Amino acid sequence: MLTLNLETAWSEFVNFIKSKQSIVEYTNWLEPIRILKSSEKGLVLGVPNIFVQEYLIENYSKELSNFFPLNNDGELPLFFVIDELKEVATVQEEVQEVVLEKELQFDVKLNKNYTFEDFIEGPSNQFVKSAAIGVAMRPGKTYNPLFIHGGVGLGKTHLLHSIGHFIHQNNKKLKIQCITTEAFINDLVEHLKSKSIDQMKRFYRSLDVLLVDDIQFLQGRPNFEEEFSQTFESLINQGKQIVITSDKSPSQLRLSERLTARMEWGLVANIGVPDLETRVAIVQHKAEKKGFTIPNSIAFFIAEHIFSNVRQLEGAINRLGAYCRMCGMDVTQELVEKTLGEMLQFVPKKRITVENILKSVASMFNVRVTDLKGNSRTKEIAYPRQVAMYLAKELINDSLVKLASSFGGKTHSTLLHSWTKIKKQMENDEKLRRQIIMTKQNLEI
Ligand code: ADP
Ligand code: MG
Repeated sequence: MLTLNLETAWSEFVNFIKSKQSIVEYTNWLEPIRILKSSEKGLVLGVPNIFVQEYLIENYSKELSNFFPLNNDGELPLFFVIDELKEVATVQEEVQEVVLEKELQFDVKLNKNYTFEDFIEGPSNQFVKSAAIGVAMRPGKTYNPLFIHGGVGLGKTHLLHSIGHFIHQNNKKLKIQCITTEAFINDLVEHLKSKSIDQMKRFYRSLDVLLVDDIQFLQGRPNFEEEFSQTFESLINQGKQIVITSDKSPSQLRLSERLTARMEWGLVANIGVPDLETRVAIVQHKAEKKGFTIPNSIAFFIAEHIFSNVRQLEGAINRLGAYCRMCGMDVTQELVEKTLGEMLQFVPKKRITVENILKSVASMFNVRVTDLKGNSRTKEIAYPRQVAMYLAKELINDSLVKLASSFGGKTHSTLLHSWTKIKKQMENDEKLRRQIIMTKQNLEI
């Protein structure tokens, strides 16, 4: 009776979530979970991997506790068991007799650092990461092909290899080929030369998973495109997984209409430039992997000034790490500016006005703009006013007389005096330095 209730509760929970979530999320995360056993103590749920279990608990603990009675220890009556891709494994056993090419040694070449665990998630890449995990969990069964596109250095190759690692770890029998488009073309050329093209065709068509990086290199090469299209169709028709990356979306690529349409069959997902917070998390993660730590405010500074490309961000961390190791120094703002100098991108100064500065400083120091423009000499007002004057001289290219007059008619010598005072104080006052960096950031974004 009780066990039946638990099973019913599970299916009600799943239906509830299904009605609330996108189909992508449902297919990736909930559909693969199955009840392996049901007893009075609880339900044993089979999950394809630890991600699914964590996802469920992290995102739905509240809903779960609404559907399931907690046991005496205050815990959910749910137990998880990793239930490794059994479905795929069975299918795979049946196709084991497929002729294996002895001459073409099969060897997956994947960068060991490119795993899902090391891929930092944020709003710009959440969807594509989730799709990639979905594909990796059930190759050939969700989106086929998965087409990932986005600018340089944003993690396309990283995700492609992550899919490869994940599938390889979960099912060693699956035959995976991860290849750049250029390598595919070179391979073709070699086999054409040595008249062994049929062998190559057989090899590619016997794969379970084909991961192709940078398909844009197929543009303007119709013969190779034709060969690739045939391989592509043969695999898709057999339900084998294909993942493609590109710097442009399928419709923007100069490829045949047929191939373009085929590439749009599955899921086309874009990977964007990570936002500031994600970049900060990437900086810290990469530094940690290199064995050093970066204080928060400095990670923030780096992420703020290297913003268009994760590869550059990583290059900066490597350089900083090497320098710190060599000199045995801790990471400080000065060190960052010294070692990264020309890598830091300073956004062209926006039209910053004294009014903007006053507003920004007023909110940072919790005072009113009118007070800053007034004549009060109390410390609570005079200090932020000096900070605002410092920022005005730093950020606005205008005469001191004019700038000073915008502060409720102050003189240029007052402004200069404030600038000198704050500049000096910043040398020893970490808090002030941080406040100024933050105000600048607010103004420049
Ligand atoms: P692309 O193929 O899009 O040009 P890559 O996959 O080669 O970019 O990524 C460039 C570098 O940036 C790699 O070292 C990769 O590990 C790193 N990278 C990109 N995005 C992320 C991310 N979200 N989390 C962690 N590292 C990332
Ligand atoms: Mg790449």
